Amino acid sequence: MKSGTSYFIDVSAPNNDKKTLELMQELMLKYNWKTEVVSHRAKRDIISMNANMKTSLERYMLELQDNGAANTSTEKSKKYRVSTHWNQTNSTLTFSWSDEKVFFEMPTDWDMKETHEDLFRLAHYVLVAPWDTSVLENWKPSRKPGWRPGLAFSGGIDSAAAVALMPNSTVLIYNERSDIPGKLDHTNALRFFEELSQSEQREVVRVQSNHESIRMRDGKMAGFSTDYACAVQVILLADHFGLDSIGTGMPLENTYLWHGYKYRDFGETWFWNHYSKIFEEVGLPLYQPVAGCSEIVNMQIVEQMNWTGFAQSCLRSNTPGKVCGRCWKCFRKNSLLGIPFKLEGEIETFLAKRPLKQAASTLYSIQQGGVSEKGIKIKERFPDLKPLLALDFDFLNRYLPTASELLPPRYRDYTVERLKQYSQPMSASDLEKLRQVDLFSESVQVAED
Ligand SMILES: [Zn+2]
Repeated sequence: MKSGTSYFIDVSAPNNDKKTLELMQELMLKYNWKTEVVSHRAKRDIISMNANMKTSLERYMLELQDNGAANTSTEKSKKYRVSTHWNQTNSTLTFSWSDEKVFFEMPTDWDMKETHEDLFRLAHYVLVAPWDTSVLENWKPSRKPGWRPGLAFSGGIDSAAAVALMPNSTVLIYNERSDIPGKLDHTNALRFFEELSQSEQREVVRVQSNHESIRMRDGKMAGFSTDYACAVQVILLADHFGLDSIGTGMPLENTYLWHGYKYRDFGETWFWNHYSKIFEEVGLPLYQPVAGCSEIVNMQIVEQMNWTGFAQSCLRSNTPGKVCGRCWKCFRKNSLLGIPFKLEGEIETFLAKRPLKQAASTLYSIQQGGVSEKGIKIKERFPDLKPLLALDFDFLNRYLPTASELLPPRYRDYTVERLKQYSQPMSASDLEKLRQVDLFSESVQVAED
């Protein structure tokens, strides 16, 4: 067509995912209107391009209808008895494994019968992989992708940056740790969700759970049993929300910088190849928009989104809008901004630990500040850090462009375009410095979270 005029009509869809999809299907099949679902009356991701979702919608609707049948079509794979490990009572889903039993407070209209067996297997795997990987044996996944991404959203800086780099259709899902004693407090996360709802018309789906208690069986503090246990609720809700990929806020310090202190080509690692394959096979390719962004870059993105003061990585404060000022996360942020910190407790302990936690970006933040409230200089108190503090970490202010090669092809251009709006790519000399990062080569001890 040489020229033409496009019209679009904004329709308020029913407040129900399945009904919305049915409406969309009717508009497309009956009237041949190109139709796209966007969450609320938010800014459009693509203004001038009408994406035709017909194929992916049909595939998704078929999959919804076939859910019951899908279980019989996977007879060749080893029988995974979902009910042996998973049970639903009203909206509470429980997972039982070994002598552990944890719960998930699912949305009231969620139904485990409308959830593909593959999702339960993957959720099972990410929860107990350190102790038991038998759930992967003889598994032939058959779930097909939905039509929009989901993000394991923590309300912290890295995952807020991920929100900025993913399409508006992305479903934000929060793991709300519950029934585990400790210092974690949801006050500031909930305050940020309120802000997202008010200013961006974005809702956050909160799923209460105590699954972070599983790894306490090893005498560890509560936390994620594997790197993707943070996304277990997203996995379990993937059919409910029609998800076609799964996002996390995993930054450069956990991808290309191994434990934050040694460069590695992330795309070549066992970790990436192993997990990306499993997720891809269940129709949920990993979508890690900040894999090439340091926490410094992520903080700059958050600033430009006007979320400073809302997106907080400190999880301890119970005062809305305030951080605790005493945790490691607060220390790194304060130091970065040149604000004096309290040299005590966790901050003092971690500063003495080698390899230094999240070393590259911690050293960079110490270079910007590094003086305590009492005037104590970190490099005087911990002289072994002196040579490391002399290194140039300025490259952390720019993103690693090749990381976009790992994004799902469908969303690559979108995320790359967004990233270009907020940040600059690393130069050749930045890349050289990044590749040389190997800060504790003699050290054998592995940093623990
Ligand atoms: Zn804090």
